[in-house]
Amino acid sequence: MRKLALNDEILLKIEKPARYIGGEVNSVMKDKEQVDIRFAMCFPDVYEIGMSHLGIQILYDMFNRRDDVWCERVYSPWTDLDKVMREEKIPLFALESQDPVREFDFLGITIQYEMCYTNILQVLDLSGIPLDAEERTWEDPIVIGGGPCTYNPEPLAEFFDLFYIGEGETVYDRLFDVYKEVRARGGSRQEFLEAAAEIEGIYVPSFYETTYHEDGTIRSFDPVNPHAKPVVHKQVVMEMQDTTYPEKPVVPFIKVTQDRVVMEIMRGCIRGCRFCQAGMLYRPTRERDVEVLKDYAYKMLRNTGHEEISLSSLSSSDYSELKELVMFLIEEFKDKGINISLPSLRIDAFSLDVMGKVQDIRKSSLTFAPEAGSQRMRNVINKGLTEEMILDGAGQAFEGGWNKVKLYFMLGLPTETEEDMRAIPELADKI
Ligand code: SF4
Repeated sequence: MRKLALNDEILLKIEKPARYIGGEVNSVMKDKEQVDIRFAMCFPDVYEIGMSHLGIQILYDMFNRRDDVWCERVYSPWTDLDKVMREEKIPLFALESQDPVREFDFLGITIQYEMCYTNILQVLDLSGIPLDAEERTWEDPIVIGGGPCTYNPEPLAEFFDLFYIGEGETVYDRLFDVYKEVRARGGSRQEFLEAAAEIEGIYVPSFYETTYHEDGTIRSFDPVNPHAKPVVHKQVVMEMQDTTYPEKPVVPFIKVTQDRVVMEIMRGCIRGCRFCQAGMLYRPTRERDVEVLKDYAYKMLRNTGHEEISLSSLSSSDYSELKELVMFLIEEFKDKGINISLPSLRIDAFSLDVMGKVQDIRKSSLTFAPEAGSQRMRNVINKGLTEEMILDGAGQAFEGGWNKVKLYFMLGLPTETEEDMRAIPELADKI
């Protein structure tokens, strides 16, 4: 039987102990003596949030397909357990093996939003890994950052050995091969970092000298190691068909934020809203094949037992095979008690029609995102929506039977005036 890192006494006094015990359906167990690389994949937030993140499920599956790698998961302990771990000197551990993170070869941290930066320090601290990358030795894992915030890595640079800029499917295999090669010949940590810096998309902060203007913006950014490139380019997968997808996602024991099968239909967004980080970072738009998605839907529902399937993309209405896919899901699964969830749809006649088929109209509300109240402000942010389009969409929804709509607006946009702010309630009133 697996020995848990936390004893019964601790598990019984903390909130939601299932956050920390691992052993969920579809979690991957391997023999640690039989692998070359142990990778701790961390989402630096509480379990329920981290388990809802699709990117981790994709990488967890991809890494564990390699016989020489065992990838395990780590999340931020909630404050109650954090206190106990510090008092009883229990190091942070990975869920699958329950072994201390410090024993791993890599600690990969996905950095999705700035609000979790302090959690990253908590994870390093509880693991007993020096916060400052320069103080680490071969006794410590290589701490690698990935995810959208790595496109602006400087605020976190001193805490990371390297950043992976771009989509995880592209260069991880090369990085693992380089690591194995350096380890096998007894090379140093510095030699590994130099070899890693040669891989496209990998940024090793300690190999650069950065100077700043008085206001904190960057004045200069220059490599100081011959292996480091002057410019690091993000890496993207151009052929989605060549990537793997988790057909057996891990099923949590407790309710998590995204408690359903999530099927990624597309990456990137064809629109160019100026405020949108995701729209800029995940360019270009790439679709997954509709026949492959139908097959995934069967397999993922069968392998998990979930009762809901959701489509994931930045703007599902722009997926060219949406009608085909949605009609298939409704016909195949609706009568089997599977809920179909369709977020990120634009409000048009087709969307209202399919949403009417999959939702209880009387109970649900529709969400519009005009983002700004005045046409001037919407033009500034390149939202591409006129008032006529908004009122038309709302009108169609009310005619379709909905009697509630939710509206998203942003305050504090550049060039905003009081008139732009007043336009928000005015537009809401018209709707
Ligand atoms: S449509 Fe949505 S995802 Fe696409 S750029 Fe605009 S805000 Fe971003």
